[in-house]
Amino acid sequence: MRRHVTLILIWGLYSTFCLSGCATMRQGSYIGPGDERHARYAAQIHAALDPIVASSQAPDDEYRIRIYKSPNVNAWSLGRRRLVFTTTLLDLFTHTELTGVCAHEVAHELLRHNDKKKILSLGISSVFQVANIFVPGAVFADLIANPLITRGYSRAQEVAADGMAIELMQKIGYSIDDYVRLLERVSECAGEKKQGGLLDDHPSIQERIAYIKEKTDG
Ligand SMILES: [Zn+2]
Repeated sequence: MRRHVTLILIWGLYSTFCLSGCATMRQGSYIGPGDERHARYAAQIHAALDPIVASSQAPDDEYRIRIYKSPNVNAWSLGRRRLVFTTTLLDLFTHTELTGVCAHEVAHELLRHNDKKKILSLGISSVFQVANIFVPGAVFADLIANPLITRGYSRAQEVAADGMAIELMQKIGYSIDDYVRLLERVSECAGEKKQGGLLDDHPSIQERIAYIKEKTDG
């Protein structure tokens, strides 16, 4: 029994690290307000983000932005109205493209995708922790099952976020084509890299574009 308790404790620590790991591991690479580039990047983001938020179902929400130093083009939402953008995305993307990125990440926030993913992940881990009492070592199967299942859940989230992002963009005068062009640009910049966030590889960007065209042509 002591072995079971030890395994569960180890697993509990591992799960806690996984759920909070991304933000803390990247801490050293963020550009803070003390950096001379911060004001310029923040103004650029707010010029695209604020009209999207104003046109959304929660126009009074206050978003906190973080700027991450990276050679990759990417952006992601952390939940609780926190968005991250890489410096390379901000250097390369036009205002229209950045508006599309903001619409996509705001959609993830409004649809509470981060919260839902964490709840699902914790639920899966709990099942394996209980199973471990009866089958010692079962808790380690969570290492394989959890990422596979939660990643699958993200596929539906991406499609839902694309749909809401297009609605948000259309409310402020942009077209579906503007959003499709953004996805094509992301695909060009990403190349073969698989980085998560804006570049979630399942479904692929080509699949997402095809899905949008199928929905809008019908
Ligand atoms: Zn996304």
